[in-house]
Amino acid sequence: MNPAQAERAAASSPRLSGKAERFTESVIREMTRLALKHGAVNLSQGFPDFPAPVEIKNAAKVAIDADINQYAITWGAKKFRDAIAESLHHFQGVSVDPEREITVCCGSTEAMISTMMAIINPGDEVVVFEPFYENYGPDAILSGATPRFVKLRPPDWTFDPDELAAAFGPKTKAIILNTPNNPTGKVFERAEFEQIRELCLRWNAFAITDEIYEHMLYDGARHISLASIEGMRDRTITINALSKTYSVTGWRVGWAIAPSEVTAAIRKVHDFLTVGAAAPLQEAGAIALKFPQRYYDDLARDYLVRRDRLLGILTGAGFRCFKPRGAYYIMTDVSAFGFPDDVAFAKYLVTEIGVAAVPGSSFYRNPAEGKNYLRFTFCKKESTFQAAAERLAKLQTK
Ligand code: GLN
Repeated sequence: MNPAQAERAAASSPRLSGKAERFTESVIREMTRLALKHGAVNLSQGFPDFPAPVEIKNAAKVAIDADINQYAITWGAKKFRDAIAESLHHFQGVSVDPEREITVCCGSTEAMISTMMAIINPGDEVVVFEPFYENYGPDAILSGATPRFVKLRPPDWTFDPDELAAAFGPKTKAIILNTPNNPTGKVFERAEFEQIRELCLRWNAFAITDEIYEHMLYDGARHISLASIEGMRDRTITINALSKTYSVTGWRVGWAIAPSEVTAAIRKVHDFLTVGAAAPLQEAGAIALKFPQRYYDDLARDYLVRRDRLLGILTGAGFRCFKPRGAYYIMTDVSAFGFPDDVAFAKYLVTEIGVAAVPGSSFYRNPAEGKNYLRFTFCKKESTFQAAAERLAKLQTK
């Protein structure tokens, strides 16, 4: 190519990545910006507005004062990886080798995209339950996977086993699931995992499980790690983080647990994406992961109170609520308010009523399927609920 031809080619080639053009900014994070702009009570993005435990905060301060301020080992400080392995063994009875099977990342968000980039090849498909946490869409696009969606249907958010079986095939590289589930509050049961196992074995597929809400469980629900199901240990990638369990979403410390050959690939991707997660915060994480059982009992009990508080407020204001069994969100049906769709209603709520929620369409590939839903989070303090209750009382159903 001569210089004139090169110039013409450059002028006609797109300036931006086709991948980046295929998805929008996060609606969840945009709702938080709108809440700030309009002074609304923010029940959209799932981050606690109450303090993190004093012990984890102190441990981070101590680590900084002890000069743990340089890079940790790229795949995670040994002490922290050891604590992660112990915690998985303690709660789920799954043994993993912290030297070869754990990668510490910048939040579960990075753990997920690093995992996808480590296993996906062009033409690969991933099975995703829908509604899904919005990141999984862009994760699929960025890693080059084609998503195959399988519906979780209200009110219990169960799936049709035949529909799931039909989504698997020779191109299936992995299934992605999140339990306890964002946005629905579903907690996957053993029988469902057995169906998933059968399909993963039949099609030689991985399972990527996002278990970040593992300790937020209500009404007797039990969290099961997919890796604990017989036959799944060596084909499951388990993703988790400090963020939700210890109320430190801004610390950005998460991890991926995977069989060693998968971990080797995840570690390379992770290294060149971010090098590593914050070193002093990993020190603090090593201490937090050893909190006594009482911490987790109190966490679940406090969240149960918050769930019931928000259920009461929303039901009283005319929302039809799907009662969650886990995580810290409530999906609601908003048809009774008579708005054309979820986005119009969410806009009205944030600007006119002063409460921010997430439009249901951001959890569906086809926005029309989420148009009757709005998601609210209850990881908030009592004064926030009080303010939300006062504002939502002004709402009228049609
Ligand atoms: N998981 C949280 C939510 O769904 C937010 C996560 C994030 O914004 N990184 O609201």
